[in-house]
Amino acid sequence: MFRVARLLQDERGFTLMELTFVIIILAILVLLVIGTYEASTTLAEKVTCESNLRSIRAAVAMYHSSNDSYPDALDDLSPSYVTGRGLRCPTTEAPYSYDASTGRVTCSVHNF
Ligand SMILES: [Zn+2]
Repeated sequence: MFRVARLLQDERGFTLMELTFVIIILAILVLLVIGTYEASTTLAEKVTCESNLRSIRAAVAMYHSSNDSYPDALDDLSPSYVTGRGLRCPTTEAPYSYDASTGRVTCSVHNF
């Protein structure tokens, strides 16, 4: 019993070096988590953009087969062929590039 009480009285807490070391480790872990989050967000936007383009290209092909011509603008596809917010790149919200003479749809941000 006296031994435990003596150990508690000798407790001096952490040294400045120990606290600094713990803070540095926590800062490194936070930086790793932030970097992983940003990389996964960028990848998700790229995959979403690619999926949007695939849907729009299919819609342009359906429009062409129905009307024997390409639409004058991508907005002509909505709402009959494409619905939702899929006519813009999710990264910058910029509209996709569209060539009405060939029906080619591209993203200038991701170079798809
Ligand atoms: Zn894009």
